[in-house]
Amino acid sequence: MKLDDIYQEIILDHYRNPRCSGCLTAPHTRQSLYNPLCGDQIELELKAREELIEEIGFTGHGCSISQASASMMAALCKGKPVAEARLLLQHFREMMRGARTAEDSSTLGDAVALEGVRKFSARVKCAMLAWEALEKSLDALQATADSAAPTGASNGQH
Ligand code: ZN
Repeated sequence: MKLDDIYQEIILDHYRNPRCSGCLTAPHTRQSLYNPLCGDQIELELKAREELIEEIGFTGHGCSISQASASMMAALCKGKPVAEARLLLQHFREMMRGARTAEDSSTLGDAVALEGVRKFSARVKCAMLAWEALEKSLDALQATADSAAPTGASNGQH
């Protein structure tokens, strides 16, 4: 079996059996993103506690790449510290830009299977959609945490 075929199998498996699919009860953030180029839709929900992504769930529709990518991202980031999720997002983005090979991207788990997508520039947006939703979610969590923090506890650079 060629590597491309294995990657194709992984993508189809996530598309047909999405991980972390469904809505959460009382999520801390809900981000909805749409890719007009392809018609892909992702709604991502997150629950975090003490800088850890406790729960993650998504609903959506669209092409197999967009939905498989959401499933891969969610499975990968669930239970991970927020800082690590940001690093994985950076790795995935670099891989999609061709700045990181699949061999350098073992941290990305099943998501390395999407490496070949970067050769089809119109589909990169499909693969990135869920990760952009993740970035918005982490930013939203950060903003909530910042506003909730007592002013005296900040770094004092007012
Ligand atoms: Zn798409």
